Amino acid sequence: MLSVEEYRARVLALASLPPVEECAIGSGFGRVVAEDMVAHCAVPPFDNSAMDGFAVRSADTLGGAHLTVVADLPAGTRLAPLIGAGQAARIMTGAPLPPGADAVVPVEDTDQSPGDVPLPDAVRVPPVAVGAHVRRAAEDVAVGAVVVPRGQRWTPASAAAAAAVGHARVRLHRRPTVAVLATGSELLPAGAPLGYGQIPDSNSVLLAGLVEQFGGQVVCARAVSDDLADFRQALVDAADAEVIVTSGGVSVGAFEVVRQAVEGSIEFVRVAMQPGKPQASGRIRDAAGREHTLVALPGNPVGAFVSAWVFVRPFLDACQGAFSEPPTLRIAVADGWRTPPGRAQFMPVVITPDGVRPAHRLGSGSHLIASLHAAEALAFVPADVERVAPGDVLDVHLVR
Ligand code: AMP
Ligand code: MG
Repeated sequence: MLSVEEYRARVLALASLPPVEECAIGSGFGRVVAEDMVAHCAVPPFDNSAMDGFAVRSADTLGGAHLTVVADLPAGTRLAPLIGAGQAARIMTGAPLPPGADAVVPVEDTDQSPGDVPLPDAVRVPPVAVGAHVRRAAEDVAVGAVVVPRGQRWTPASAAAAAAVGHARVRLHRRPTVAVLATGSELLPAGAPLGYGQIPDSNSVLLAGLVEQFGGQVVCARAVSDDLADFRQALVDAADAEVIVTSGGVSVGAFEVVRQAVEGSIEFVRVAMQPGKPQASGRIRDAAGREHTLVALPGNPVGAFVSAWVFVRPFLDACQGAFSEPPTLRIAVADGWRTPPGRAQFMPVVITPDGVRPAHRLGSGSHLIASLHAAEALAFVPADVERVAPGDVLDVHLVR
């Protein structure tokens, strides 16, 4: 049996980067930045006022002063009047600090009211220090600084940062295309009336949703029977996908269709984890000679879910050039549970003020799909631990 880390390393070794695309900064959220974005202009680009008030020379205000108001400066003004000794300018938030001035007095600290019309001739101000209520040019970002590093997910806040430093376009990795095939002759499409021995296919919607959440682009997602010819045809239909994620048919039963179809080109392994022991992955070549990466997960729905988080997520991250690992929290256990000896365990848990507890009274049963959605996280129990006791502290990975 392989450890979780050993098998994850093998899956990661299969990853390849799709090409880079240039996109408008308002698009492509969730994709990964392909090149460092460097500031073309500083933020802020010029010294400006942080308050509505009066721009003054600090040295004039010692002990308080009565200053002559010589200009009115709204945000966007093109005026840059020189503020001389004994003078002030009314200034609004975001307007450039005029030459000569070195501080701003907020209007509420003066004898004037906000928005007084007409402009007052004079203003009484208290003492104010150099730089007070002034946003300095480049205090956020200087020209040439890396503002959004490559490897990071593109978000609305990264787009705002890019806009602020002068970019209208961004280079993003294309999303890897993924086909999801859930194998099993017992499976019917969701909503179809069930006959004897049949169950709804819940894995294809589960895995397709997770793949989208992980940044993949799902090109098809459906159930396929355990008939070898059907599965081979499904692989042909999935030929547009760079990655094929399957569920079921990888263990040691009699109708293991994934195993029958690709044995030889793909490595079938047992991983020391619970749930999710049978796994397979590798490269397959289609009739047209194109290569696809196959990541085959166990059919049990909770096993498929855990395997997706533990193997498919880091694999798709690597296929997108993403550097950042999802955060691992360290949380105490509220209610203990038994764990299988010699196998790492990923327990679906809820996070309560007292700590984590299993999301289902039956623990990590790998068929408990109808209650899996209650889980907020997977608690990781190392292979050498046999009993988790209240107060133990575990690594916890959020799964929402
Ligand atoms: P397998 O790995 O194919 O042996 O499947 C293991 C268990 O998971 C069986 O009880 C299957 O019925 C169930 N199962 C497999 N695929 C799915 C699916 N797509 N949706 C729901 N249950 C599934
Ligand atoms: Mg099956």
